[in-house]
Amino acid sequence: MTVNEIFYSLQGEGSLVGVPSVFVRLAGCPLRCRWCDTKYAWSASAGTEYTIEEVAEKVESYRTNHLIITGGEPMTNPELPDMLKTISGGNLHITIETCGIKFVPDLSCDLMSISPKLANSTPTESELALEHEKIRFDLPSLQQLIDNYRYQLKFVVDGPDDIEEIEMTLANLKNVNRDRVFLMPQAGTLDEYLAKSKMTAELCKQTGFRFSPRLQVFLWNNAGGR
Ligand code: SF4
Repeated sequence: MTVNEIFYSLQGEGSLVGVPSVFVRLAGCPLRCRWCDTKYAWSASAGTEYTIEEVAEKVESYRTNHLIITGGEPMTNPELPDMLKTISGGNLHITIETCGIKFVPDLSCDLMSISPKLANSTPTESELALEHEKIRFDLPSLQQLIDNYRYQLKFVVDGPDDIEEIEMTLANLKNVNRDRVFLMPQAGTLDEYLAKSKMTAELCKQTGFRFSPRLQVFLWNNAGGR
């Protein structure tokens, strides 16, 4: 399988923020979000070929029982189920970071960390925007993920108007626990992060959703592999 990078860091977002974790970033994502901070992982060939056993060995070499599978978009990788079968077990806690556009059943996954993409993610180039709008949101897949996995929902907020779209998304879903909904500031740099965090915090106070930091921006200014 093509692995973009494997590195050891802190979980930067959501309910497990701050937990030392090993990250396996799989290559490939069909979306082209405007503010994506891992554009280097978009291509399905952007990485190094690993056997599943080599990935497992590398994961075991780090001093943590928290594994985060990220991307790109890991749920569109056909080798993901086999990889998880090989790697899971013992006391390993597995989080999958996904944008929620594809449901895959029966994955060995302890936390499905879903970040549905709002309209603020649409690319500015018209050709990319057209394709992006077709696939960035898939309500049936999102519902199945929520129904079949322990989940959290993380929305990237670019401005106060995004709340309307977030509430509309939640209204179209069944059985969402609002305690598992996080808002996080859209930020590619530390300056942007600091500028948008207070706005996001105010929105959390108004709506009751939880604020999620983005430690990868706050601590390392979004440098890759951190
Ligand atoms: S879904 Fe995630 S990895 Fe894919 S383009 Fe959007 S932000 Fe980047």
